[in-house]
Amino acid sequence: MGKINLMSDTVTRPTIQMLESMMQAVVGDDVFREDPTVNALEEKAAQLFGKAAALFCPSGTMTNQIAINVHTNTLEEVICDKFSHIYQYETGGYAFNSGVAIKLIDGVNGKITAKQIEKAINPVYDWLPISRLVVLENTCNKGGGSYYTLDEIKPIRALCVSKGLKLHLDGARLFNALVETGESTQAVGNHFDSISICLSKGLGAPVGSLLIGDINFINQARRLRKVMGGGMRQAGYLAAAGIYALDNHIERLKVDNDRAKIIGQTLKKQSYVETVRPVQSNIVIFDLSGAQTAAIFLEKLKSKDILAVPFGEKTVRFVTHLDFTEAMLNTLIEVLESMD
Ligand SMILES: *Cc1c(COP(=O)(O)O)cnc(C)c1O
Repeated sequence: MGKINLMSDTVTRPTIQMLESMMQAVVGDDVFREDPTVNALEEKAAQLFGKAAALFCPSGTMTNQIAINVHTNTLEEVICDKFSHIYQYETGGYAFNSGVAIKLIDGVNGKITAKQIEKAINPVYDWLPISRLVVLENTCNKGGGSYYTLDEIKPIRALCVSKGLKLHLDGARLFNALVETGESTQAVGNHFDSISICLSKGLGAPVGSLLIGDINFINQARRLRKVMGGGMRQAGYLAAAGIYALDNHIERLKVDNDRAKIIGQTLKKQSYVETVRPVQSNIVIFDLSGAQTAAIFLEKLKSKDILAVPFGEKTVRFVTHLDFTEAMLNTLIEVLESMD
């Protein structure tokens, strides 16, 4: 069976069918906008969310960083939850790339409310950064894969519109949420000024993210992608993988979510587990009981060919994905039930 890798849903390899569609891609120089496969992927993504345009980028960090830069000016402020990827895992890029401050909200499992955002908006004084942009993360990674429903997003959108704030969605794992809620991409598109999705996570493409928005926004974003060094040439080979992923790998995310739930239920019964965060999509975060540290626990798992990552001193994260099979799930459960 080989190693069971639950470090992230980024560890997947392209399937044979995905590789075949990459091999057959018709390509050109995308910096001249002459790669038909990149153009097709961008058009497909824009249409999916009912927006005018989209931009193919090397990573979700780049799509988020570009979005922050286009939506803000220096000396302004971004509002988000304290667990947000843009704050936790993008090397402080909001300050480096855009010269903006950040206001962190103490949300629940990475989710924030309109009420909390309203309180976080700065009054206009010379000594305060101007509140400009709200970023929601759906699903929220550090929040344990928690997700928003549209009913929760609607009041946030209404507040942003009434206060003149832009609203960006870090939707790296958005489809893991949508297969749970049954909500449409069109409805999501209606509620955000810009949306970032990752093709390289649960969707199983080797590389790539998409930034989606209106024409002016994407035109500015394309210039920023170039200055950040993200203008790629025959990127159609990668875009073909993205098209394949959007056509074939969205619905099956439910399988990943369901397997994560089963892992969560198994962990709950183990005496070495203190708490399991509510499992809502394909991420399982749990805290160890007693004196056991994440480092010790992960060593034990590694000796059984199971890989995962620490998420704190006594906290561990598992992420399910396309290359994590039913047989692997069964092996994992056996191992978890035999450990102490
Ligand atoms: C993975 C991820 C990103 C982008 O990561 P890259 O590795 O730069 O593609 C952004 N936001 C969230 C929530 C993520 O999980």
